[in-house]
Formats: sequence, structure tokens, C-alpha cells
Amino acid sequence: MINEPEKYTKCDSCGAKILEKSAIEVDGRTLCGDCVVKNTNKDVAKVEKIAKKKRDQAYELERQAITLKQKKRGVLLLIIALAAFGVVQIVTHMNKPEPVKSISIDFSKKLPVAKSLITIGIYKYSADKQKLPISLNELYPQYLPTGVDSAFKYFSYKQLDDSSYELEIIRQETDETNESDHNEK
Ligand SMILES: [Zn+2]
Repeated sequence: MINEPEKYTKCDSCGAKILEKSAIEVDGRTLCGDCVVKNTNKDVAKVEKIAKKKRDQAYELERQAITLKQKKRGVLLLIIALAAFGVVQIVTHMNKPEPVKSISIDFSKKLPVAKSLITIGIYKYSADKQKLPISLNELYPQYLPTGVDSAFKYFSYKQLDDSSYELEIIRQETDETNESDHNEK
């Protein structure tokens, strides 16, 4: 049995003299056991750092996506709300004259009601045309419910200036159902 002499080599990382048989080759470098452990730990730390960065980036992207989605949903809800509001406005507007139109009312016996309707009619007319009507006939039929024109003869309408007018009940036909406080004559 021949005792071969022990061969030594050098660690490429720390320079320590090590037995050739206990040297470990990593990526073409000869390393001692300690340096292999150190290098491995460094690599693990590096890999963990990269993984954490990727997780953070993924989280941030996810967060931005959610925020964007929430914003889009907010805008969508606003649009739906506005659309619903518009539909309600249109339906309300279309339905408004209906109850009055469908019921036949003798406005000559309901002069305060007629006065309210005429007042609303004058308001709508002036909002549309940016001026007051010269006579009540201009309001009918576009700005008044059916039948209100039959009560015109009980009213005195006068345009005072560009923005004011006087509307008075000048004659009370019958007074079965209404006590009129507006009638001063
Ligand atoms: Zn070493």
C-alpha cells in the first residue's frame, strides 16, 4: 500500500489552503466549504430579494388594476344614474299633462286652478321664448292643458314690462266649490 501525499489547493474566494479532495467546484471556481456556504447564502438572499421585488411589483400592478376598475365602475354608475334621472325626467314630462287632459274639467268653475295652470303656462312660455306672451291665447294649446282656454274670459292679463305681468280673475262664474281669495273685484 502506497501512501500518496495529500494534495493541497487554494480557495479562489478566501485564499485558504485546502485539501484538493475537499475543494468544491462552483461555476468553474475552486472553493472551500465555508465559501460555498457563504456563496449559497448570498445567492439565496439575492433570489429572495428578486422574488420580493417581483411580488411587490405584482401587488402594485394588481392594486392599480383594482383602482382603475373601481374608477371605471364609479364612472359607469354615474352614467347609469344620469341616464336613469334623464328617463325619469322624460317620463315625468310626458306624463305631466296626462291626468289633466284625460279628465274633463270645467275650468270656469275652478278659476283658482285655472289661474295656477295659466301661471305655470306663462312661466313655461317665457322660459321657452325668453319673453312674456302678449295675450293668454298665445299659451294655448302648447303651454296649457286642454280646456283651460275656456276660462280665459274670466281673466285679465296684462304685460307690465319685459319681465313682469299681472294676471287677475275679473269675474266669478259660479262659486259652488271654490272660495277665491284672489278675486278682489
Ligand atoms: Zn474559502
